[in-house]
Amino acid sequence: MKENIKSEAERCLQCKKPKCVEGCPVSTQIPEMMSMLLEGQIRQAGQMLFDNNPLSIVCGLICHHEAQCEGHCILNHKKQPIKIGSVENYISDYNLDMLPLKNGDKNGKVGIIGSGPAGITIAFILARRGYDVTIFESHDKIGGVMRYGIPDFRLSKDILERIKKRLEDLGVKIRPNVLIGPVITMDDLFNDGYDSIFIGTGVWNPKKMRIKGESLGHVHYAIDYLKNPEVYDFKGRVTIIGAGNVAMDVARTAIRKGAKEVVILYRKDMEDMPASPHEIEYAALDGVSFETHKQPIEITNEGIIYKDMVFDETWKEVGQNKLFKSEAVIISVSQAPRSNIVSKARDIHVSKKGLVETDNLGHTTRQGVFASGDVVTGAKTVVEAVKYSKVVADAMDDYMTNK
Ligand SMILES: Cc1cc2nc3c(=O)[nH]c(=O)nc-3n(C[C@H](O)[C@H](O)[C@H](O)COP(=O)(O)OP(=O)(O)OC[C@H]3O[C@@H](n4cnc5c(N)ncnc54)[C@H](O)[C@@H]3O)c2cc1C
Repeated sequence: MKENIKSEAERCLQCKKPKCVEGCPVSTQIPEMMSMLLEGQIRQAGQMLFDNNPLSIVCGLICHHEAQCEGHCILNHKKQPIKIGSVENYISDYNLDMLPLKNGDKNGKVGIIGSGPAGITIAFILARRGYDVTIFESHDKIGGVMRYGIPDFRLSKDILERIKKRLEDLGVKIRPNVLIGPVITMDDLFNDGYDSIFIGTGVWNPKKMRIKGESLGHVHYAIDYLKNPEVYDFKGRVTIIGAGNVAMDVARTAIRKGAKEVVILYRKDMEDMPASPHEIEYAALDGVSFETHKQPIEITNEGIIYKDMVFDETWKEVGQNKLFKSEAVIISVSQAPRSNIVSKARDIHVSKKGLVETDNLGHTTRQGVFASGDVVTGAKTVVEAVKYSKVVADAMDDYMTNK
């Protein structure tokens, strides 16, 4: 891939009104990036990308480019968009370890709860401005879903170690294995002199299907499986219920870990699957098979009892109940937030779904406490978490400056 970077940059038409930029949630300066690369200014290009998006190196790899920058590229009319993600990743990968970062000397102490894309973005922006930043992370390593969800074959974990090193270069302190809520609470942080607190705790509770059999021994939830696939030993047929991007990650991981047969079971048509076409294509290339029009109604020791979604001419359901034999079943029907923090914290309002309520600058209902990322928006993407966290970092900066 990398040897094509120059020719990809040369194909850029330098559009006056670049649609690719419009398609990018963080408005990455794509034409400028291409011309800087071709003019021998790879370092300046890297600085520009990092200043706009501290997770540019990740986004170049795992954004849904076909729906964003590349999908909007004018050359996509001929189905030949520029490989913008590859060029961005090349530049950001080259630069990450050597970029000068510090650019301010503000005073104030910031506590960040959660080290996913939202927390990391806030940490970089505020530490670069001079704030004293501490990250609290319940897992043993930083990264959130980038580490404990997205499989290694899509996002190498070395990148997260390099990001950690850059945070430490800025003086950011990281406390791993600390779940804020049960022992240390938000009140403790304020008592210890934190001026502002950020909640970026994501959505880590698997959603249940609410059918019989979900507690059986061969049934697992996607987010739990992806956290540590090594501890599962599937040999026969693994069936995944759900057909979003997370389900594709589960399927592609299970097949790589030795499952003989991996099947995605979905209640509608292939075209209705919520996963991006690109992810479905990769799953098929990897050997995953798809069973559609099957609505699970119960899980038993033998597999999944499903209803065939067949209708007569009056659209009346006429399908039979059948068994889909499976050694293991993995349920992948989205995630919701956990309530560790908010159940112990005063005055933080949450919605019925458990999402933290904020205004559009990230202020929660408690003074000095801000939030963004999936715990506010529900399950979204890395670049969306970066986009909102940039706004929230500015709001936290304003709050601490005026305090
Ligand atoms: C399997 C999977 C694949 C995905 N693939 C893609 C993709 O290809 N491209 C894309 O753009 N997006 C993808 N996403 C979505 C993306 O990863 C999320 O939108 C993004 O990670 C959200 O970032 P966040 O910082 O809000 O939360 P998270 O990444 O969830 O991070 C939250 C962090 O907070 C920590 N935490 C939680 N509670 C506490 C507490 N009480 N105390 C301390 N720490 C706490 C968690 O351990 C975690 O590290 C994927 C999601 C999943 C599940």
